[in-house]
Amino acid sequence: MIVMKFGGTSVESREAIERLTLIVGRQRHRQPIVVVSAMGKTTNKLLKTAQEAAAGRRDQALTLVDELRAYHLIEGLAVAGAAAADLDRYIRAHFDWLDELVKGLSIVGELSPRSMDAIASIGERLSSLIVSFALRSAGIPSVHIDARKIVVTDDRFTQAQCDFAETYLRCQQSVAPATEAGVVVMGGYIGATLEDQTTTLGRGGSDFSAAIVGAGVGAEEIQIWTDVDGMLTADPRILAGGHRIKTISFAEAAELAYFGAKVLHPATVLPAIEHDIPVLILNSRRPDVEGTRITSQPPPCLNAVKSISCKRGITIANIHSTRMLMAHGFLRRVFEIFDRFEIPVDMISTSEVSVSLSIDPTDRIEEIAAELRQFAQVSVEENLSIICLVGENIRHTPGIAGRVFECIRDCNIRMISQGASLLNLGFVVADADLNRAVTALHKEFFSVLDPAVFD
Ligand code: ADP
Ligand code: ASP
Ligand code: MG
Repeated sequence: MIVMKFGGTSVESREAIERLTLIVGRQRHRQPIVVVSAMGKTTNKLLKTAQEAAAGRRDQALTLVDELRAYHLIEGLAVAGAAAADLDRYIRAHFDWLDELVKGLSIVGELSPRSMDAIASIGERLSSLIVSFALRSAGIPSVHIDARKIVVTDDRFTQAQCDFAETYLRCQQSVAPATEAGVVVMGGYIGATLEDQTTTLGRGGSDFSAAIVGAGVGAEEIQIWTDVDGMLTADPRILAGGHRIKTISFAEAAELAYFGAKVLHPATVLPAIEHDIPVLILNSRRPDVEGTRITSQPPPCLNAVKSISCKRGITIANIHSTRMLMAHGFLRRVFEIFDRFEIPVDMISTSEVSVSLSIDPTDRIEEIAAELRQFAQVSVEENLSIICLVGENIRHTPGIAGRVFECIRDCNIRMISQGASLLNLGFVVADADLNRAVTALHKEFFSVLDPAVFD
């Protein structure tokens, strides 16, 4: 068995879904389980619909529903062949339900995380159905499984945590046997509580679903089909011309994803590591490119750095202890506050009297700062970017920090941190310096490439 996950762009249109059927058809003998994202930008649009409705902008919300309905009918029915009438009914039923919900929300003027998940889930419920119909119409037997019957989560709506034991059990009992009958298709990103309330795993969560299902059925491989040739040496939205990384370790991939390489959801690698299942990143527009293989034992690499990831628009909080030296319990109090606000901290650096933390931008930063000010001096800086160099060799190559800081000597560095794993070297600069810094670093570390590792 293999898991093949197709992201939003890989199912965004009739042509994209036709490419998917060809890709899946070629690997049919491997008993594929296909996990799909919502089509194109559907999730963004569904969430926007919900927000418009809750803000009382009923007509705008209903217009968005109309656009989504038309989009799914046009691109979806085109691939359904003889079953188009059935699919038409399903699609209309979902959007009729959404119409009613939008009307209700615009009266109540309130949007709970639970309603948000119910609305967001429509994207994957429909895309998975459409893809299953498309496979059948291409002559490939297919079984559609509602992911909400398989992926069991807690009730932290919009960020639900998976109950792995129960989910793996269901994968073994229901998903694995279904592959005998045809290509299984499931929606990513969505799950349900034990009480059957629909939940989602957080934005970008379809990669995670693929890994969970892969681990649950003991897949031999997890393929993540997307719109780039694999993991690249730099984020293509920041720097064009990055090189494809042929193989990378689980640890390096996790680090990259965590610090902004959107190509893979950071949580994805965990279930894959635990079950030692290789993950491949592949391009659905160029299926013959070998992509990137993420494994526990990648070959040795002559380059010091594997990739540069970055995350724009972050915030840092600089917290100075008001005592002379950091008092006992100071860090605990600091972290308790971030924990209570459920704000994950990305990067940390400390000195004897201060600690700097980087976080995603949040509209609660003033509340957080007020709490910290009860025992510390606090300053907040916004519009910053994290740049992170990742590679197993960073720990045994002398002089890396010198090369890094030499090549970005004219950027103002706001914070520096080297992860305890010694796998990364990260620092924070102003958003305005990001492109210049990444370009200079990429030139420094990737002008000469180890052909065994990079393309
Ligand atoms: P999908 O919809 O298939 O899940 P995503 O948009 O979530 O696709 O992720 C793919 C995108 O990740 C690419 O289009 C690319 O812009 C971005 N990306 C960021 N960093 C990297 C990197 N280092 N290598 C490859 N892609 C990256
Ligand atoms: N459709 C969801 C999102 O846009 C999940 C995913 O695509 O991974 O966040
Ligand atoms: Mg993604």
